Amino acid sequence: MRIDVISLFPQLVEQVGRYGVVGRAVDNAKVALRSWNPRDYATDRHRTTDDRAYGGGPGMVMKVEPLSAALEAAHAAGATGPVVCMTPQGQPFSQAFAERLAAEPGMVLVCGRYEGFDERFLAAHVDAELSLGDYVLSGGELPAMVVIDACVRLLPGVLGHEASASEDSFASGALDHPHYTRPERLPQGNIPAVLLSGDHARIRRWRLKQALGRTWLRRPDLLEGLALSAQAQELLREYIQEQAEDASQAAGEPIAKSES
Ligand code: SAH
Repeated sequence: MRIDVISLFPQLVEQVGRYGVVGRAVDNAKVALRSWNPRDYATDRHRTTDDRAYGGGPGMVMKVEPLSAALEAAHAAGATGPVVCMTPQGQPFSQAFAERLAAEPGMVLVCGRYEGFDERFLAAHVDAELSLGDYVLSGGELPAMVVIDACVRLLPGVLGHEASASEDSFASGALDHPHYTRPERLPQGNIPAVLLSGDHARIRRWRLKQALGRTWLRRPDLLEGLALSAQAQELLREYIQEQAEDASQAAGEPIAKSES
């Protein structure tokens, strides 16, 4: 995948290609990351990339011409795929959006600063506006780095184990199940016995139940969008029943014990 980033702070964005999973993907040529600074395409003596807002008010606005010239240079050098602008007014970024982007041959991410972009740049050059969440950051670089990380780890052959991205939270619409590693016993607790059973069907069932249960506890909004299989519904019922038992036990109430 080819990723081009337009940013006034290209060195900040490039960091995402230096470490961990994305760093390895760059080293293995699974992804080519290039950045373009609009300042290099400003034509006046001071290399101005922002100016005061028409209509007055505080804050500067990113000018159209340096942005569009940087975009043109990127395209001339082979940039491809949708032009995606980082803005708190865009559609909320999600795993589904990351999957759509990761299926593209490339993408061009545009980072704002100051008050954001002259609206004419967005209207003329941008395919999608993307928000990281309902808060305002001082620049689009961190959002762009998030988008890059989320997409690159989905590319075939990038994660060590092929299945690991498909088992993460959100891949199936639910949260991930809890994870444990060595040692088996610690002052902080022991690991659930089922994970030591070697019975892979039971382990799968337990993990699915935990994943559904956590989603029910922490993100009920996600469950609403899921079409659960009969087995999944049964597991979730069990989880909810066990929660109720734990709660009444903690409150010292007599327990109506369920089968299982
Ligand atoms: N005045 C703008 C905010 C500008 S913040 C507004 O209220 O909508 C400056 C830049 O930071 C933006 O142009 C954008 O590129 C980036 N940014 C800030 N918050 C963001 C968010 N939640 N998601 C994506 N980009 C964001």
